[in-house]
Amino acid sequence: MFIEKIDAWSQRCPHRIAHRHRDSATTYETLKTHSDALCLWIEEQSRGIGRTPVVVYGHKQAGMLAAFLACGKAGLPYVPVDGSVPAGRLRQIIDSSGARIVLTAAPLPEALGKTTLQGSLAPASPCYAAHLGQVPPAAWALRPEDVCYIIYTSGSTGVPKGVQITRRSLESFLDWVGGLYRPLEAAEVFLNQAPFSFDLSVMDLYMSLVSGGTLWSVDRDQAASPAALFDSLGESRVTFWVSTPSFAAMCLADPGFNSGLLPDLKYFLFCGEVLAHDTAARLKSRFPGARVENMYGPTEACVAVTSLTVTAAVLNDYNPLPVGRPKPDCRVLVCRPEELNRLMADGTPPGPPEPLPEGEPGEIVIAGPSVSAGYLNNPGQTRKSFFAWADGGRTWPAYRTGDAGFWRDGLLFFQGRFDFQLKLHGYRIEPGDIEEHLRRVDWVGNAVVLGVEQNGRVAYLKAFVTTPGPVDNQFEARLKLRNSLLEKLPGYMIPRSFAFLERLPMTPNGKVDRRRLLEESR
Ligand code: AMP
Repeated sequence: MFIEKIDAWSQRCPHRIAHRHRDSATTYETLKTHSDALCLWIEEQSRGIGRTPVVVYGHKQAGMLAAFLACGKAGLPYVPVDGSVPAGRLRQIIDSSGARIVLTAAPLPEALGKTTLQGSLAPASPCYAAHLGQVPPAAWALRPEDVCYIIYTSGSTGVPKGVQITRRSLESFLDWVGGLYRPLEAAEVFLNQAPFSFDLSVMDLYMSLVSGGTLWSVDRDQAASPAALFDSLGESRVTFWVSTPSFAAMCLADPGFNSGLLPDLKYFLFCGEVLAHDTAARLKSRFPGARVENMYGPTEACVAVTSLTVTAAVLNDYNPLPVGRPKPDCRVLVCRPEELNRLMADGTPPGPPEPLPEGEPGEIVIAGPSVSAGYLNNPGQTRKSFFAWADGGRTWPAYRTGDAGFWRDGLLFFQGRFDFQLKLHGYRIEPGDIEEHLRRVDWVGNAVVLGVEQNGRVAYLKAFVTTPGPVDNQFEARLKLRNSLLEKLPGYMIPRSFAFLERLPMTPNGKVDRRRLLEESR
């Protein structure tokens, strides 16, 4: 059980630092006493209100880690929500998850109101004080089939989808990466770049804690200032770098980003978006002693299900880079999307789809213990993407990713999306999510949001908005749209540019002509 492994470090190395963020350093001993006490507080509070998921709100504070472990000890799922989300989004997540307790490491947005039970995660919080020194019974803890966390991702209808990940999925992921990369027990320092609300952070957070390592968090403000970021990195002695490729590419723009800054670095672990050939090649030349790993997977399959070491031979043989070979306990297949549509139509239980042979492009499907049981309280969306997969006498959940790919030389290649979902600086965005919020503005007719590419990757979002009449003051109109979106969506989902049109161009079969919109706006 992953929580027992983490707790064991409080006995073996009580004073070792489990988490560092700016001036705050939290030992394994404190992590255990705080998570034990918080578990008892949660249990006490939920007695009156039912056992529902617990929202954990903040940005990189150590209290969030204690809260995640406390929920696991109480047998409840946690929902990490980043401190940057506006009140409207937080409200949607609280309501759709049914959470009755919100644990806060940062002040909640005022506009949220006080409708839910709140507990503070500040170091001197009364939520720890009441039960400090007490240990919760092990029998409360999560069982393998229990949901451990729920991560909300952008949903194309304007409502985020809560991906439920069980303890079994998480432990299967941790066993796999622990075997692949073999962190030295109690000696590693893991970089934590992604907010805890993104599933990439599950990799650094838990790989670090189960191996007695130190999780080194850089926050949004540090990441936005090269001087602050490089100061923090220089001090960190990071051995495992975990980030989106975009973040590493941003660091590479500074010639000071080299093995002199991170002399102990052993691994770059990347996941979540395309790892560009050029980024991998530059990292290998600046950090000759570090291995570069490309991993692939969606939140719905617990972080990653394929991996590849980017060697000199791989760089020589492939451009674009493959995403690798599957995790042994999962099946990763490329299937015909039409066949998947047919199998999943009308809610009839599908038989396993026929995998396509090497070289033939299709949709990537993942089946096995890594795959989520579906979206929380959202049977409609769950039916669209998940199905049951009978394999060797067992039935596993299967997920159609919407990703296009193919196999070559036994390696999986990612080729883009079948839908409009995109990645901006590593963030997963459904343009439909933003479009839906734009259409709710009373003077907007229709809206389309596109990712504008520069140097082969999405550089920013552009919104095309129709209005019934001409817009006299475009500056003011843009400001109004931005402000309206900022009440509902996180900052990274706000388009940088807005264009006002009388009508949207259409294709001959009646769909919005997105390609023409992009071409005309160049
Ligand atoms: P998320 O749920 O935020 O992790 O996003 C999952 C999506 O990111 C996948 O469905 C892919 O579209 C994309 N993705 C993840 N890993 C990779 C990778 N190594 N290369 C290319 N795209 C990736």
